[in-house]
Formats: sequence, C-alpha cells, structure tokens
Amino acid sequence: MQIDEIENAFFSTIVNPVLRRAIGFLDYNCPKDGNLLIKSLRIFLGQDIVLCDRCKAIYENLAKPIYEIGTKLLRVDRSFMQQQFLEDQYGEAWFRGFALMMRGIRKYGIRIPFTPAAPFLIVWNYTYKCNLRCKHCYEDAGRKKPELSTDEVKQVLDILSKLSTVGLPALSFSGGEPLAREDFFEVVAYAKKRIPYVSIATNGTLITKDNAERLKDAGIDYVEISLDGASAATHDWFRGIPGAFERTMEGIKNCIDVGIDTCIASVIQKENLAEVEKIVNLADELGVRFMHFNYIPTGRAKAHIELDLTPKERLHVLQVIGNKIIDLYLKAKEEELKFGKSSVKVDRFFSTCPQYASVTKELSRQKGETFMVEAHYAAKKGVENVANFLGGCGAGRLYCAIEPNGDVKPCVFFPTNEETVLGNMLKDDFEEIWDNHPLLWRLRVRENLMTYEVNGKIVGCGACPDKYICGGCRARAYSYFNGDVTAADIGCIKNDELWSSIIKIINAKAYT
Ligand code: SF4
Ligand code: SF4
Repeated sequence: MQIDEIENAFFSTIVNPVLRRAIGFLDYNCPKDGNLLIKSLRIFLGQDIVLCDRCKAIYENLAKPIYEIGTKLLRVDRSFMQQQFLEDQYGEAWFRGFALMMRGIRKYGIRIPFTPAAPFLIVWNYTYKCNLRCKHCYEDAGRKKPELSTDEVKQVLDILSKLSTVGLPALSFSGGEPLAREDFFEVVAYAKKRIPYVSIATNGTLITKDNAERLKDAGIDYVEISLDGASAATHDWFRGIPGAFERTMEGIKNCIDVGIDTCIASVIQKENLAEVEKIVNLADELGVRFMHFNYIPTGRAKAHIELDLTPKERLHVLQVIGNKIIDLYLKAKEEELKFGKSSVKVDRFFSTCPQYASVTKELSRQKGETFMVEAHYAAKKGVENVANFLGGCGAGRLYCAIEPNGDVKPCVFFPTNEETVLGNMLKDDFEEIWDNHPLLWRLRVRENLMTYEVNGKIVGCGACPDKYICGGCRARAYSYFNGDVTAADIGCIKNDELWSSIIKIINAKAYT
C-alpha cells in the first residue's frame, strides 16, 4: 500500500467529517460581509478587511487556524501565496481556484488527488471549421456539423462565469480553428468580462498583424500556436496544406510583436522526432514558451497509430524539455540566492504527458533538487509540495472540455460518443454532471488504476509509485484499451513491457 493510499483512508475516516463541517461554517453568506470563503483568505494573506463581530470570530477561531495548519502541512510558503493571489495579474483566477478547491473539499472531502467543486480550466473546441487538414486532428475538424449560435455561446459563458457560484478561473478556445468563426473576437471580449484568464489554441495561419492586434484588444491572455516541424517540409506534411509553415511562423511573430504571451505547441511523433531539439531551441530563441503535445490515437490520429512514439522515444522528448526547464529553475535559484530575487522566467517548457512530473522529478533529483513540473502547466516554486494533490492527469477533475455544440467531455482527447459525452451545457445542469457522473468518478480515483503481469513483472499505472503525481494519460488508456479509462498509459517507460506486447497485437491485426 502506498503512503497516499493510506492518507486517503485516513482522510475519509478521520479528517473529512470534521473538515467538511468546518468549511461549511466558513462558506456561508453573511448579510453584512457577504461570503467569507475568499474574504477570509484575503485577510490571512494580509489584506485589511473589516468584518462584523460574528465573521471576525469565525475568522479568528476557524479560518485562521485552518489556513495556518493547511499551509504548514502542505509546506506552502505564505509569501508565495501573497505573490500569486495578491500581486499577480491573474490573482482573481487564483482566488476562484482556491474557492473551488475549498468547496470541493466541502462536497467530496479531501482526497489525493483532489477534486474541486468545478474545473479550474475548460478547453472549448469552439468550432469544427478549419482551414488545415492535420493528420492527427483529435476533432476530425473540417466537417460541417451543428454548432452553438453566438447567442447560445454567450449563454454558456454566462453559466461558466457562475460555476459553483464562484466562476470558472480559466478558459481556452480551441477547435477546429477558433479564428475560422466570424464571431470569435466578439465572443472573446464577452468571455474576458466574465472569466479572468482567457486563452486560445490555434494553427496561427490566420493571425495576421491586424488579427494579432484584435486578439490583444479583445483581452486574450495567452496564445498557443501549433508548429509541428522546424522546417516547412515536416510541418506542411503533417498539417496537410502547403504554405502552412510560413503563415504559422508569421502568426507566431505577429503575436510576439503585439506582446501577447505566446507558446509554440508541437505534437511530437515519429516523423518530427528528429526535429524536437530544433523546435524547442526555436521557441527559446524567440523567447516564447514551448508545449509538447502527446500523440493520442483519437480522431484522425487513430488512422496513423504507427506515428505514436515508443516509451523510449517519449522519454527522450520529455528529457529534452525537462532539462531546459530545470536549467531555468537552477538559474533562477542561483540569482535568488545572490540577489534576493530573480528575473528568470521558469515556466516555459511544458508537456501534456502527465509523466512529465515523474521525469522532471528524476532529472532534478539527479541534481540534488526536488523541483518537478506538475499537471501540464504548473512550474511554480512550492507547487512540487502539493504535486500529489494536483495529481497529473486532470481530465474530468481539474479540467474538462466543451464541444462546438455544447456537449461536455472529460478531455478534448477523448473520442466523442455516448459514453464520453457527459451532458450538454445548455440542456443539462453542469453542477449535477460534475457532482455525479460515473465516468468522472472513475477518472478521479487512482486506487482503481489497473495492473498487469507481463513476463513475470507487474506493470501498469496501478502499480506505479508515481500514480498520484501522474496517473497516466487517461485518453491514451481509453484509446489503446477500447474505452477502459482505468487501463495503463502504454506510452510511459515504466510500462515498456506492456507497450511491446500491445504493439505486437496491433501489428498482427494490421497484417491479417
Ligand atoms: S506508469 Fe502510469 S502513473 Fe506511472 S509514471 Fe507511467 S504513466 Fe504515470
Ligand atoms: S487525458 Fe489527462 S493527461 Fe491525457 S490529455 Fe487529457 S488531461 Fe492530459
């Protein structure tokens, strides 16, 4: 039995009954002071807020001790929290995340990994329209299918802005190509008034100078642009349209020129594996972020399963990116020691492989450090202490997806079918889906992950010591194991034996 498993048993029997009751006292609406949940954290972090006598007593006797014990147990530095919540431009998103976490504990109890009362991030596949024909498109975009109208989109945004009465912290528009819809800028401006962090994932080919300005004016906080090769030959082959590379590069430069936080995103597969260092270095030279996208055989990518990396190849990619971010981390640490602060921006090299946490943990251990990069995006100092609470794969837990027609799925990389569509934003109650859908609860509990015996060795995410910081990509498990979300992620080096046996079966089927 792993330590996190023992902690989960302890939480459910001893801690949760008390904690859930205590948070219930905090999470009430005072007629004078409003809701005390966020306000009490503001006071704890040093803001000067006047409370009525009753709220003051609740703060002193309940909230303050909870925060003091919580920050000590999780080894989270109060100055780190002050920086993120009070000084960061996205402080509002952090406060919403905190309130959703507390409400999640109140509703479902504290667990490793934890489930907030609503997702922190939603990726909205905004349209099926697209001007490219990428071989790996998870959405199989380019088909004509019903989508929400502009008015319906605004209704969904209104719902998102009130999720669990707190509101969604972060929203990302993806597709298809979101810029292919004429109402996109209008919708972004509407979203930005309701959600503190709004981003876009795009192929970049439609980001002219003018459109880059419009994205900035509409309030987009972050642009992620897909580039699948360091050369036109590689990128255009994968993206299916000649000339795409040049236009994508222009799009990247236009975003940099107007000062939007920009990221180059690459799906690394067999045909561009040899270029991974070049693409990462290009991002480095341009001063933008880099996001490695895992190859997941879903949508059109299912027809090109031969492009998927072996576990050894994937490990190589994660080490290339991991070494980059660890170098930045060490530079920042050195500057902080010398000058008391650092201007080095560490959070620049990421992967959507949840085993990036496991790989960066090992790479930094070799350098005598405890740094690790968690849950797709987190690379903040102090976050490594709560890595198991964040828990790697966030599908249906920290994050979920919306389809162009408003259907809700656990993650964009799940195929769209009766089993994976959890409900619809306009036809169903999101809170009801989030609280009760059985598929979501299968995704949230790590103790259920499968183990397998291969050549006398027990493998599978269920047997892995890192399952609470990683959990494996559940969409890859679903795709390779015919819809079993508790199966192994066979892209991981720790499941190498399983990969070899599954690939033998797939190859044998292909030749019969
Ligand atoms: S075996 Fe599964 S849980 Fe463990 S590191 Fe690999 S993918 Fe993650
Ligand atoms: S299933 Fe999990 S790890 Fe895989 S892409 Fe979705 S959120 Fe990421």
